[in-house]
Amino acid sequence: MTHVSLYHSCRGVDRMELLNSSLGPSLQEWDEADLVPLSALQHYSYCPRQYGLIYLEQVWEENIYTMKGQWSHEWVDEETSHLQENVQILTALPVGSDLYGLVGKCDVVEVQKGIPYPVEYKHGRIKPSIHDELQLCGQALCLEEMFRVPVVRGGIYHISSKHRREVEFTPVLRQQVREIAGKIRALNAADVLPKAVYDTRCVHCSLREACMPEVADGHLSSDWSDWQEARRVMNPHH
Ligand code: SF4
Repeated sequence: MTHVSLYHSCRGVDRMELLNSSLGPSLQEWDEADLVPLSALQHYSYCPRQYGLIYLEQVWEENIYTMKGQWSHEWVDEETSHLQENVQILTALPVGSDLYGLVGKCDVVEVQKGIPYPVEYKHGRIKPSIHDELQLCGQALCLEEMFRVPVVRGGIYHISSKHRREVEFTPVLRQQVREIAGKIRALNAADVLPKAVYDTRCVHCSLREACMPEVADGHLSSDWSDWQEARRVMNPHH
């Protein structure tokens, strides 16, 4: 069993020194297997099977949506820090929460008067997404613990529409993050891939081909002819 201290496992330790020094002995140390990546909150809330395919089965497939997502993160993939009009801008900041067992990276954190404001970059036009909000709220929980100040809101920047949408970290949202983190740990422990639920979420899912939701959901039998039909439906241009 491997125990880790989150801050010491993060890159960019120099920027964490102040935070390290403020950590108290009462904070929990987590088994590595129980640490929940912030991006997993987004995947699990979108579809537990999607989380299972990525994190339990190590399946990952590129599609136009994941490629757009990578492109949108490109400029915030490098750890940097600079001052802009009295606001410290940190990019690709490693974060973690010993309290909640979360770990990950913030695209951008704007720090003004000691208060961090996380900004997550997403491709596409502006559209509310609870899945993105949960990921951002997870970042806020980490930042609160690290900076020892309340973080009450953050932003999601939509690249295509060049618009930043502000998200408030309500008690309900915070509770949802904690609950999903608990469900992820339970799923990891059970090590069972959740069943597919074939619905509208599957249309834009990068794992649709690997998942074969029509078959897995029982819409089609696993006979060869049906399997071929499923592939034809999912990939009409092939
Ligand atoms: S294809 Fe559908 S059921 Fe399968 S992982 Fe994606 S969203 Fe979930």
